[in-house]
Amino acid sequence: MKITKVESFIIRTPIRRDIGDSTHMFTHWSTPGCWITTDEGLIGTGYTGLEGNGEELIKQVIDQYYAPKLLGRDPFEVKRIWEELQWGRLHWIGRAGVTQMALSAVDIALWDIMAQAAGVPLWKLLGGDKPQAIKTYNTDGGWLNWTLDELVTDTRRFVEQGWPGVKIKIGSADPWDDYRRVKAVREAIGDDILLMVDANMVWDVNTACLWGKRLEEFHIHWLEEPLHPDDIAGHARLARELVTPIALGENLYHRYSFRDYITTGAVEVVQADVTRVGGITEWVRIANLAACFNVPVVPHVGDMMQIQQHLVAATPNAPMLEYIPWILDLFEDPVVVERGHIKVPDRPGASTRMRSDSVERWRVS
Ligand SMILES: [Mg+2]
Repeated sequence: MKITKVESFIIRTPIRRDIGDSTHMFTHWSTPGCWITTDEGLIGTGYTGLEGNGEELIKQVIDQYYAPKLLGRDPFEVKRIWEELQWGRLHWIGRAGVTQMALSAVDIALWDIMAQAAGVPLWKLLGGDKPQAIKTYNTDGGWLNWTLDELVTDTRRFVEQGWPGVKIKIGSADPWDDYRRVKAVREAIGDDILLMVDANMVWDVNTACLWGKRLEEFHIHWLEEPLHPDDIAGHARLARELVTPIALGENLYHRYSFRDYITTGAVEVVQADVTRVGGITEWVRIANLAACFNVPVVPHVGDMMQIQQHLVAATPNAPMLEYIPWILDLFEDPVVVERGHIKVPDRPGASTRMRSDSVERWRVS
């Protein structure tokens, strides 16, 4: 099989209302990526995900630097191709951020083609571990720009709908506001539901020690991204001082960062995101590395779950997936959730195939 065409795209799917955490505001979710066509008629779809800024840079990397390297190649040589793109003309300005997100899109499209060629869903190609259902937790009611009433109403509704866990954003200007919001949610959802909190990197280590300890009375399942994502020593100190596990990974781009976090005991829940770490090829390496240290992997969903449902379904040390339903209308086979659990897909491929009417409506480039 040979690659005959690479077509890049930027698609911006609007979100039902403006959403905020301690570091971002979202009006839509952007998915720059590519369609890769082969001489056997298969088309693989791969994308990365972000709030919009810089999406044209990702598209440019695919068009100018990656597409010419892909033409004529066999998608089943994905690991060879991955190394060549990683160590190609962009390596001096790359290995993280823009180039790694572009590489993620390409790698995902190649795995999509391989699964289609094999006639199986991606989770099966990867050696499926959970063929029935995947547990999820719901992030989509815990935003920092929600009023306390909205926060309590939404998280309580998720529990009624069957979700076994919810995550809420913290990192308010006044940490006492965080304390009051976490307290109100814990009281609303009861003791049996998993409750996670996410500071999106805004605290320093002393603030995180102080408020991380204060929040422990609400038995928090994990504290996510309390500090700057490059501060391994700070996270290691927090992990030692807090009973609450430290979760992070959405701002890490390759296995070496995860290795250093894991071997120093600075992360206790690995949140590697397939759309940031260079795709499925690198994600699997990171998940296997975590397994060597008995660390669970619960991915951050830059893909909005479509691809990572397969990865969690194929990974014994991945107990759960995040749930954010922002771009379900973009896909032919959107994630199916019943009582907070994803029904594992049957259709061959990586569940990235997009609806033509949605592409027509939301494609900007
Ligand atoms: Mg997060």
